[in-house]
Amino acid sequence: MTALLETRGVWQRFGGLVANSDVSISVGRGEIVGLIGPNGAGKSTLFNLIAGVLPPTQGSIWFDGEDVTHMPAAARCQRGVGRTFQVVKSFETMSVIDNVIVGALVRNTVMREARRKAHEVLEFTGLAARADVLASDLVPAEKRRLEVARALATEPKLLLLDEVLTGLTPTEAQTGVALVRKVRDAGITVLMVEHVMEIVMPLVDRAIVLDLGKVLVEGKPADVVRDPKVISAYLGD
Ligand code: ADP
Ligand code: MG
Repeated sequence: MTALLETRGVWQRFGGLVANSDVSISVGRGEIVGLIGPNGAGKSTLFNLIAGVLPPTQGSIWFDGEDVTHMPAAARCQRGVGRTFQVVKSFETMSVIDNVIVGALVRNTVMREARRKAHEVLEFTGLAARADVLASDLVPAEKRRLEVARALATEPKLLLLDEVLTGLTPTEAQTGVALVRKVRDAGITVLMVEHVMEIVMPLVDRAIVLDLGKVLVEGKPADVVRDPKVISAYLGD
């Protein structure tokens, strides 16, 4: 069976800066894969290439057996690429349920069905009691969960999570970890960017370490954390 997601020799240049350099990764169906690495390693850039925010300078991206390299973000979302966004300002003035309905409208053109889907996702993510609250009134951990809920409402095959556990208290982070496991148990593949290794390593099946735009190491979390190359990248050698 082919991987759900593959990047093949992907490069991204911003002028003279090389943000992604010959990056080839794959994510299998049902996996939770962690994409880690120091600040500026190129993690968010790779996410943007996968989600279709920008086309790679070179290389190709394959999703669910299809070359999506030049497919716009909205079309990739239709194919099943879901991602979290920073909560944008305009959404802050909307209720929690309306935020999630925006995601659900990707698959349900009938408003009543989109609303039903949104309620189901709020139950799933533990936000049901906050449905009618303004997004701006949520505490930070709830805002992160709302981002996940909005992405889940698009009914993705692959969920891209960019630092959704960063900056949370240990208890909140554990709630987040439990939610990611629940997402995978629901049959959704997860690729997550996290900066904090202690949180992400116990959760992922496989870790891919980016450094200076390149894949430095990949493998089982226990092996990756002990790898001298990874240790020196994090210590800034
Ligand atoms: P990470 O998410 O791993 O911290 P990023 O992918 O955000 O890293 O950034 C990788 C490098 O690319 C950084 O040096 C960053 O400054 C640069 N970069 C990211 N986006 C842009 C952009 N739109 N224009 C110019 N440089 C960018
Ligand atoms: Mg980033």
